[in-house]
Amino acid sequence: MNPKTWTVLELINETAQYFKKYNIDNPRLNIERILEDVLKLKRIELYLNFDRPIANAEIEIIRAMVRKRSQHIPLYYILGHAPFINWDFKVGPSVLIPRPETELLVERVKVLSEKINASYFNILDIGTGSGCIAICLAKLIANISVTAIDKSKEALIFAEENARLLEVENKIKFLCLDITSDININLQGAPFSIIVSNPPYIKHDELKTLAEEIKYEPQSALDGGTDGLDFYRIIIKKYTSYLAHGGYLVLEIGCDQGPLIQELIKEENNSISCEIYKDYQGLDRIVIAGY
Ligand code: GLN
Repeated sequence: MNPKTWTVLELINETAQYFKKYNIDNPRLNIERILEDVLKLKRIELYLNFDRPIANAEIEIIRAMVRKRSQHIPLYYILGHAPFINWDFKVGPSVLIPRPETELLVERVKVLSEKINASYFNILDIGTGSGCIAICLAKLIANISVTAIDKSKEALIFAEENARLLEVENKIKFLCLDITSDININLQGAPFSIIVSNPPYIKHDELKTLAEEIKYEPQSALDGGTDGLDFYRIIIKKYTSYLAHGGYLVLEIGCDQGPLIQELIKEENNSISCEIYKDYQGLDRIVIAGY
């Protein structure tokens, strides 16, 4: 008997069931994304071509990806790229997968840059990872120069490649720097109009309670120490001196950390104005402090 020839729709339905059995969130969306990449069709085109037969060679590739996903390897590591704002970023296990809430951080910085209304922007991105924040800012703000730092050389390889692919490599300087140890460095480009960061902010003990997918991501990009605030302490104490007068510190935060971070900022300088912004779920997500 000939092996069964699958159609697009059959494969979507079967695999969605399979993923459900393995407790994969959004099972249908996961197989759709895999098929989009392998068959080079957009989501809507998958359904317009619902009865297109899948070739054996395609089935092999899809099966291997589906198997990995059922082991809870993050979808975007399997695909090798992730969407963020209007662009696609190469990702792999040495970088955190860009999160939708971080898009708000970029939007906020863009709004601030309009408010500052200077002819030239110098921005420092601390813990750049895949480079998604630095690169989107370089795409969205005119007359910008970004210094993007990360302690991980492997992450910087992704960031540099993403900047090159998205054609902003001449606007961003990437530096390998560990803010927990490299102090008093002469940060080229300072003073900055804005310092932006999405540092690791999950409490150490909370990490093991999170979704299985998160265990595949670099723990050093997530682990914020005992209370999750280790990196905010360093940034607020050691890095705000690199800000220009009238500059802003813009931080992504955990939803329960806003008041604590405001306190850390006020401890350093009581006259700093500091606001908290919520994400689309109504959770505290961003702190903006004006220096
Ligand atoms: N928002 C991320 C998560 O919940 C955490 C990112 C971070 O620690 N900076 O997975």
